Amino acid sequence: MMPPGARSRGVAVLGSTGSIGTTALRVIARQAGRFHVAALTAFANSSLLSEQVAATGPAYVGLVSPNGTMPPASWRIGASSLVEAATREDVDIVLNAVVGAAGLDATLAALEAGKRVALANKETLVVAGELAEAACARSGGEIVPVDSEHSAILQCLGRRDRADVARLIITASGGPFRTWTADAIGGATLADALCHPTWSMGRKITVDSATLANKALEVIEAHFLFGLPYERIEVVVHPQSIVHSMVEFVDGSVLAQMGVPSMELPVLYALTHPERVRDDGVPRFDPVAHSPLTFERVRLDDFPALRLGLEAGRNGGAAPAVFNAANERAVALFLEGKMQLADIAASMDDALARLGSMSGRDKQALLAADAAARAHVTARAERR
Ligand code: NAD
Ligand code: MG
Repeated sequence: MMPPGARSRGVAVLGSTGSIGTTALRVIARQAGRFHVAALTAFANSSLLSEQVAATGPAYVGLVSPNGTMPPASWRIGASSLVEAATREDVDIVLNAVVGAAGLDATLAALEAGKRVALANKETLVVAGELAEAACARSGGEIVPVDSEHSAILQCLGRRDRADVARLIITASGGPFRTWTADAIGGATLADALCHPTWSMGRKITVDSATLANKALEVIEAHFLFGLPYERIEVVVHPQSIVHSMVEFVDGSVLAQMGVPSMELPVLYALTHPERVRDDGVPRFDPVAHSPLTFERVRLDDFPALRLGLEAGRNGGAAPAVFNAANERAVALFLEGKMQLADIAASMDDALARLGSMSGRDKQALLAADAAARAHVTARAERR
């Protein structure tokens, strides 16, 4: 039940037409009265966006690229609509479900405006974790993760201080190539990579989950969210995706958060944290039906994208931004059929060797590193 007199909180859903965006709209609809949709933005899918606008009645609608369609005159057009939506007075929570570094400005602007950012867009923290931390410290804005592993860690931490934490153990499904040999992975097709065993997600993160680049992005995300050094963040393969992650405390106790693989709960929890609310739309867990739960060491040598990303995280500066941008560009080329799977990590390796020690001093420097990495990967692919 809502406490009497409590006001409904306005949510801006950025990237509303995607996998997380559509999940978020379902979650918000079930929590009517507690939350409402104040703003929606999407990239180019204006017909789905129209349906969402009709269903949720937001005060603000933004479309980045009309793509030959004639959107209603009341919609704002262009990339600046993300920041506009994220900084509105009637928006309490910005659910950033944009894919890629394109979500960066909106996250930073929302934090500067003192908002809660329910963050699915992990690329923001990989590109500019320090800038996001500084924005929170200046303005009182906060980031609550939507990523299931980070939501699990936040839930295990409760109100405990980070001095009580020995290490974070982030689980990885292992993706479609968990049991494949390195050679077989090198020859995998787009269809193989898009066939994720436990999660249904957008295409970019699905490819990232096949190369394990996603796990590197998540380790970097955890480093910034929870303020722990990289040597205290580990990855373990857990093929069933039931244990969403674990926290080991200094006395040796390990807490895990579990549930069926579904983003309904992490999205809901990012809105309500630190409270919990009743939600019958979150699928329930049956321990017997989901047993056994197994764990394996991660095969770092066979998944170079993970190894490179962990190194980039430890090196810091602009290296994580270069890693992320090279990955984004390479995955886009792979999705267009213009690159082999093995070339994604090779592209990142090249870009990091050439550009990984660029300065990450400020946003301008990070964006320059991002642009240089994308151009480097494009040029490398054209030479082949
Ligand atoms: P998706 O491709 O399904 O959706 C992306 C959304 O962003 C769409 O609404 C699209 O219109 C919008 N968008 C794309 N490019 C844009 C741009 N340049 N400018 C503005 N908007 C743009 O992706 P997704 O799977 O929903 O993932 C979104 C984010 O959430 C990613 O950062 C991903 O890593 C993260 N995430 C996703 C899942 C999942 O289950 N899908 C889980 C954890 C984290
Ligand atoms: Mg995740």
